[in-house]
Amino acid sequence: MGQDTQYLMHTYSRLPVAFERGSGALLWDAAGDCYLDALGGIAVVGLGHAHPELADVIADQAHTLLHCSNLYDVPLQSQLGKRLCEVSGMDRSFFGNSGAEANETAIKLARRYGHGRGIDIPEVLVTEGAFHGRTLATLTATANRKAHAGFEPLVSGFKRVPFDDLNAVCRVASDNPNVVAVLVEPIQGEGGINIPDSGYLTGLREICDRQGWLLILDEIQTGMCRTGKWFSYQHDGVVPDVLTVAKALGNGVPIGACLARGEAAEVLLPGTHGSTFGGNPLACRVALTVIDILERDRLADRAAELGSRILKMLEQRLAPRPMVRSVRGRGLMIAVELDRPCGQLVSQALEQHLLINVTAETVVRLLPPLVISDEEVMMLVDRLTVTIDNFQANGNGK
Ligand SMILES: *Cc1c(COP(=O)(O)O)cnc(C)c1O
Repeated sequence: MGQDTQYLMHTYSRLPVAFERGSGALLWDAAGDCYLDALGGIAVVGLGHAHPELADVIADQAHTLLHCSNLYDVPLQSQLGKRLCEVSGMDRSFFGNSGAEANETAIKLARRYGHGRGIDIPEVLVTEGAFHGRTLATLTATANRKAHAGFEPLVSGFKRVPFDDLNAVCRVASDNPNVVAVLVEPIQGEGGINIPDSGYLTGLREICDRQGWLLILDEIQTGMCRTGKWFSYQHDGVVPDVLTVAKALGNGVPIGACLARGEAAEVLLPGTHGSTFGGNPLACRVALTVIDILERDRLADRAAELGSRILKMLEQRLAPRPMVRSVRGRGLMIAVELDRPCGQLVSQALEQHLLINVTAETVVRLLPPLVISDEEVMMLVDRLTVTIDNFQANGNGK
């Protein structure tokens, strides 16, 4: 692997494997060894690797038109906006190239909304355990102190409350007239697959309505059918004012979107925001195809069904293990939380030819492609059980 990594900045400590090609939920390295991908490029490849229809669409669009600029009408962008609004209940969309850019757009939108209401120093409420990206504003919104270190001064205009704590939000509401929006993940991803109580989003919606705040949901990881619906808020019957989407939207082709509804959809006007690459014909054609395939192949239902199957199996096999604290998830967003730091599990799973991730130090995170087969699901459960058993047998951690 990588004899030329000396030319890369040291932003990642990479695992000693490089993949040459993929198909569905499988990846192969240069030696021809096959791995089961239970991480999906961190919730990006919902349709799996090298999806043949997507590959054809990419080639066709490359032969037709890749880019022309937002100075002109981009019909594929309008079509994608319409489709995304249909599945989300939003009214308008803005396209960028990543999750962080989608959230930056949402934060700028919230500030401008605040100024429109006569609030000179608008503040956005964010939560403990949140992850919203790595640009300066989204890093500030992110709760990870380690990720903040060395990048101060951070951006002002954020206030933090504990996740899944409506009382804390109410307290802020009663003594902070500058707050204009709440930005939150319906299920925290990087924070450890934290699923809030069932009344949390409804409660936030009520508070936002009462206060005239925007409810901004970051569905960058949870969206695009991952949790068994197009978007996770659809489990709760609430609708946000602003919604951010990225990761699985392009199945690996970079694209992010900020969608908005009602008054919030009218805040950003000509000259207030923009992107050179955002919403170009290639990315939009790919995302349109992703949406078509998700719908046609009923992958939301598949995610819900496989998710509960995997949870049941993992509970049976792993819950009795003393070091396993909890098995939880929604759809194909699944966590096994241990009672100790378990970062080494990632390389130990790699030895079992299984790709997983550990987040929040103690949480094994599974985000497999939604197209994972029944047999591959069994492989996933078997290999993860072996990995965790070996970890426990070797007396790791404690
Ligand atoms: C990945 C992620 C982001 C950041 O997306 P990038 O494309 O890496 O900028 C933001 N929010 C959530 C919830 C994410 O999972």
